[in-house]
Amino acid sequence: MKAVTAVPGHPESLQLDEAADPEPGPGELLIEMVVAGICGTDHEILEGDIGYPPSGHDRLVLGHEALGKVVAATEESDFGPGDLVAPIVRRPDPVPCANCAVGEWDMCRNGRFTEAGIRGLDGYAAERVSLPANFAVKVSSDLGHFGVLVEPASIVAKAWEHIVRIGSRAEWSPSRVLVTGAGPIGLLAALFATRLGEEVHVLDRATDGPKPGLVGDLGAVYHNEGLDRIGHQYDVVLECTGDIDLVSAVPAVTGPNGVVCLAGVTDEGHQVIVNSDLARNLVLENRTIFGTVNSNRRHYEEAARVLAQADPTWLGQIVNRRVPLDDWREAYTRQPDDVKTVIEFLPLKGAVPAQPGREDSSGVPS
Ligand SMILES: [Zn+2]
Repeated sequence: MKAVTAVPGHPESLQLDEAADPEPGPGELLIEMVVAGICGTDHEILEGDIGYPPSGHDRLVLGHEALGKVVAATEESDFGPGDLVAPIVRRPDPVPCANCAVGEWDMCRNGRFTEAGIRGLDGYAAERVSLPANFAVKVSSDLGHFGVLVEPASIVAKAWEHIVRIGSRAEWSPSRVLVTGAGPIGLLAALFATRLGEEVHVLDRATDGPKPGLVGDLGAVYHNEGLDRIGHQYDVVLECTGDIDLVSAVPAVTGPNGVVCLAGVTDEGHQVIVNSDLARNLVLENRTIFGTVNSNRRHYEEAARVLAQADPTWLGQIVNRRVPLDDWREAYTRQPDDVKTVIEFLPLKGAVPAQPGREDSSGVPS
């Protein structure tokens, strides 16, 4: 069977390999891949910046965003042949730490977790994989190949869960939300926000392409005119770009008790001048800035529920470039209108045809 692999730390090492067929162990499902998504994290691995292969291997099978179909399941599992599943990315550390011990591996404290397709564990950009049943999340068959968005949406589900927990330290009914960055994570963050009935604003640099329309279709307001011109008093800011200037500036557009959630990673080593008003603004009006990464099972389950209720036409404009496995290399070459590019391993009946669309330029890690 075929698998997309790379040597972490070595740019230009991307290739399509012949790999041995997986042999599921006890408690594991045999999964046939349907689609695998590509995001900024994959590009960082391909640029040699992050990632490492499984112990004893040179190459890492890529792919952490995926939708698969169960081929064979053990009787004890809740899965049966034909079920669609989104595989979970992170596995708990072996110690385990207090959080991994209770299934909250997204909050791991010792950093010894592994991540499929990223850190020490082969990923899902392969024709077949074996997957522990407790790291598979059921996806509605109605959602079809858009189930590939469950993983990125799980990042957003976790972000919102934590925003609500932090906001609830006071009497709090958020009415204005700002999302910075209209990549897949930003757009999914806006989708979650509009479901909560809030006034949602999305800021991005794009002046054309699919982003303004995708934001408008949610009933949210699209901005490309700069942070200083889009108002203030936001109750929540979800920062999805990792742009250091935005990260530094967004606390100033929140209202009292405002919550800023950082979901994008800034480039290493950039020096910024921190405005001396930062601590003053945070302290005197109870503002919070926090970071979030990864997600656990309940976030995947919430993501699968939210996506199943979303407009399939809208989701079709997010997953806007589908590349057949035969043309796999093309999938890793960014195109100006990409929003979310996926490699198609297995055509799904009734899947929405590929449409032209915009770049996944968010710095959001998985
Ligand atoms: Zn841990």
